[in-house]
Amino acid sequence: MLANLPAQPADALLALIKLYAADERADKIDLGVGVYRTGQGETPVFGAIKGAEKKLLETQDSKAYLGPEGDMGFVNALKPFIFGEGFAKIDQIDGMQTPGGTGGVRLAVGLAKKAGIQRVIMGTPSWPNHAQIMKDLDLDTVAFNHASGGVVDMDALKAAIAAAGPNDAILLHGCCHNPTGIDYTDAQWEEIAALLKDKGLLPILDLAYQGLGYGMEEDAQGIRIVMNAVPEALLAYSCDKNFGLYRDRVGAIYVMADKGAMPAIMSNGASLARANWSMPPDHGAAAVRVILEDEALTAQWLDELDQMRTRMRQVRGRLAAAGTAGSVDMTPYGTQNGLFAMLPLSKEQIQSLRDDHAIYMAGSGRINVAGLTMGNIDKFIAAVAEVSA
Ligand code: PMP
Repeated sequence: MLANLPAQPADALLALIKLYAADERADKIDLGVGVYRTGQGETPVFGAIKGAEKKLLETQDSKAYLGPEGDMGFVNALKPFIFGEGFAKIDQIDGMQTPGGTGGVRLAVGLAKKAGIQRVIMGTPSWPNHAQIMKDLDLDTVAFNHASGGVVDMDALKAAIAAAGPNDAILLHGCCHNPTGIDYTDAQWEEIAALLKDKGLLPILDLAYQGLGYGMEEDAQGIRIVMNAVPEALLAYSCDKNFGLYRDRVGAIYVMADKGAMPAIMSNGASLARANWSMPPDHGAAAVRVILEDEALTAQWLDELDQMRTRMRQVRGRLAAAGTAGSVDMTPYGTQNGLFAMLPLSKEQIQSLRDDHAIYMAGSGRINVAGLTMGNIDKFIAAVAEVSA
């Protein structure tokens, strides 16, 4: 029976990690997998997390089950950071902890399906797991072009919304779009929110990189604008980047709906969680809660996040200052956001960067901006110029 299973395509990024590890060239550059790196190429544990873990170690007196909703102290402590102090509709929002942002997306899409959604409209390219989750849940997707020439393709988005049917939902990245780094401006979000409201289209918002673009407040403007305008929304949230907790799998789902309907909605969330993972892993979420309950640790975390963002802005600034590298216009990278950018390179050019220059990036041309440092960025720009000349 089991031998009947056809092999699935290998995860290209994981394969790239192996190739990179096996490369013995000293000046190799890894721009593949999406984790933050310091100027020294490291992905350290945040000092604030270390502080919170120390506190947890001293004070945690039980590891008994918490329940499918996870650590509600964590879920509630995040709310003012996501929705802002004094968000008018905060009493229409409830949430649950999930295993990473991936669990949040999975639960959001699962809930939408249970509620009757049959198709999800989404921009392409997107984080590949979005499409994989839809496929796994037997949901059809409708694609629209996310961006062209370094800017958002608003016409494509508007046409997709206009063509939406009554059983459709739309998936939107809240900030730091993966893989393009190209986000909507606040004015564009206002326009989108009005269209979603008029159409009665359910938004599934994915906020996986809050604080990595322009700041915790700035990066949440889009989802706040949408959630202010529409009656119902689903939000998948990840703490894995902005708290550096990747492998601890820290995320949440937030649901905004009519207050009276909320207990039934959340009971569906709980039953989906039970069937999928029963309960989310506790440790990372507990560490985030400890940070957010402690003023000094919160200040330390925000400061560390600031440093990450400043470094990525510095790298982006250097890329933009290079102007063009061969046929690649680097200037838009300066104003784009988050960990990722797309280089318009052919498969052959990407292969040549790997073979001839020891520079590793995804086959799509996506680079992790944080893989660049002040020590390797000139080599990178020169290599891109050479292969794309
Ligand atoms: N959404 C997007 C757009 C992402 O890029 C990612 C992570 N790569 C996630 C969700 C999920 O993040 P997590 O690692 O917390 O599951």
